[in-house]
Formats: sequence, structure tokens, C-alpha cells
Amino acid sequence: MRPSEITKLLAGADDAGLFSAADALTRQNFGLEIYLRGIIEFSNHCANNCRYCGLRRANRGLARYRMDVDDILVATALAGEVSIGTVVLQSGDDFAYSKEDIGRIVTGAKASSGVAVTLSLGDRPAADLDYWRSCGADRYLLKMETFDEALYARSRPGLTVADRLGRIETLRAAGYEVGSGIITDLPGMTLDILARDLLRLAELDLDMIAAGPFVPHPDTPYGAEAAGSVLIALRAMAILRLLNPLANIPSTSALSALREGAREQGLTVGANVIMPSLTPETVSAAYNIYPGKNAFRADAASRVEAARAAIRRVGRLPSTAVGGSKRRRRHG
Ligand code: SAM
Ligand code: SF4
Repeated sequence: MRPSEITKLLAGADDAGLFSAADALTRQNFGLEIYLRGIIEFSNHCANNCRYCGLRRANRGLARYRMDVDDILVATALAGEVSIGTVVLQSGDDFAYSKEDIGRIVTGAKASSGVAVTLSLGDRPAADLDYWRSCGADRYLLKMETFDEALYARSRPGLTVADRLGRIETLRAAGYEVGSGIITDLPGMTLDILARDLLRLAELDLDMIAAGPFVPHPDTPYGAEAAGSVLIALRAMAILRLLNPLANIPSTSALSALREGAREQGLTVGANVIMPSLTPETVSAAYNIYPGKNAFRADAASRVEAARAAIRRVGRLPSTAVGGSKRRRRHG
């Protein structure tokens, strides 16, 4: 697809055709199954100051927490107990955890419940990324957020597109299944920028790709900006499916933060993954990236059950599979 065609689709030129084509392709490649990933948000400390994120270093209003290694392993063991095949370990860019600490979590999680382990720990040095891979980490999620250099510099002060892209290549070379993605309607993002971002993501030939809408957080510099459009985020997901037939594409929690039921809708326009939180209830509300994040207060097992019920409501089947990259299998 040309950038101009994508811009037209993002503007709503043919929602019915776009959504049904994306859904048909998803069913063709994944059947009715939706993969579940249990996300454990183990620290909300962050060294960075992204202008959109509630975890940013300068946000003094946030009660900060760090789970210790043993508590994180209790949460990863729960994933096995509730038949979830993948855990995603996510945090702010928190260098209080040494590479060995994270290595122990990866080894422990794999040994106790045999789950696939995805890391989403931000911009860590290549030596850490290589080490965790050698400990058995399977996948790494590092969203580009946008490829537009000016927008990136404004949104993530002091950080660059080139550095983020370089890290994605490091992850690929280390043998991870690699995931990336963008925030749709990030303040300053035009439809042309979004169209180019979707094409750039496709060029990266990723195993996992996420597009979630911008949700304003009042305690950030972007707090007064308009929330992203749910419809544009759904269109972006559908376009991503058409451009990346075999990628694992999640329906993000940012969708449901903006409109109840939107995350389920994402499962009918190209997404094949949903990520319920396994973060202990004692800290989950403090993982306050944006308002509405982890708003469903219940124990982790009930949250997983609710995600399975949501999947069934849209006529899909919750899978217990590990759900590794089909793109990889194609490449051999
Ligand atoms: N610190 C790591 C990083 O930035 O890669 C991982 C944690 S970070 C909280 C996870 C994701 O949250 C980011 O990649 C970003 O896309 C998303 N995010 C943060 N603030 C957001 C907002 N206000 N609206 C939508 N998504 C947001
Ligand atoms: Fe930190 Fe990630 Fe939030 Fe940026 S998006 S402030 S790196 S947690």
C-alpha cells in the first residue's frame, strides 16, 4: 500500500471493507483463537521523562513501588496456574534491577511454570539484553511510539529514533522474537505521520506489533491534549493486520481506557492477542501510565477470567497456547 492510500483509510474512506478484510485475514491465519499474555507490571519507577506517560520521572504525585524478585516469581507462577502460556514482565526504565536480578526472574519463571517470557523493560544496554536472552527470555517489546524524529524528540526528551531502532536490531540479532509499535494520535501526530509510521513498522518485519491510542494523563505535560480517537486506533490495527498477516497484534488496554468494549472490538478488526494484568492488586492501581489503566480492581485470576469472557463475547476462543511467532515459523 502507498502512504496516500493508508492516509485515506485512516481518514475513514472504507471502514467496512478495511475491517472485514483485516478480520478475514486474522481468521485465515489464526482461526478463532485469541492468545492471552499475562502482564506483570513489577515497578513503576522510571529514569525517563516521556511527556505522555504517568510514570515519568518528574511526576512527583505517583506512589512508587518495586516488587522484589520473589514476589515477581509468585506472580509468574500464577500464570501457569491459570493456564496462560506467556508472561510479559514490564516496568518503567528502572535500573535498580540489575541484569542478574532480571536474569533470576527469567530463569525462575521458565523453570516453575514453563511459560514463554516477554520482557518490556525499555532501553537497557545490549549486554543486558544478550544476557537475558541467554537466561531463556523469548521475546522483547520495545515500542517506537513514532518514527517521526521531531515528534519523537518532543515526546521523549533526550532520546532518539536512531537509538531505539538500533536496540530493536540488537534484540533481533540476539534471537528474540521482537515486538514494537506506536501510539496513535500522540499530540502532534498527523494522519500522514501515522501512515508513514505504519509502513515503517511493516518494514521492520516484526513478530509482534501494537498500535494503541494516546490517553492523556493529567499529571504530565500532555495532560490537556485531546485523547486519541478510538476509531483511528482501530483503523491503524486493521491496516497493520493487512500489512503484517502473520504478526501477533494485541488489542491494547488503552482502547478500553477510552471506551468500554473497545478492546473487544479490536479483536474483530485484526488483533489476535489480549494482555490481562497479573499484577498484584496491592500495586496495580499505581501502575498509572494513564487514567483507566488497571481500572478493573479484582484479583489476578478474576481479571484473566474476565478477559476470557470478553473474548467469548465477540465469538472468539481464548487460547491456552504459548502463541509464538508464526512469522518465524514461515521464515524457518
Ligand atoms: N518503560 C518501557 C518503555 O517505555 O518501553 C515500558 C513501559 S511503558 C509504560 C509501556 C508503553 O506504555 C509505552 O511503550 C507506551 O506506548 C505506552 N504509554 C505510555 N503512556 C501512554 C499514554 N499516555 N497513552 C497511551 N500509551 C501510553
Ligand atoms: Fe518511562 Fe516507559 Fe513511561 Fe517513558 S513510556 S516514562 S520510558 S515508563
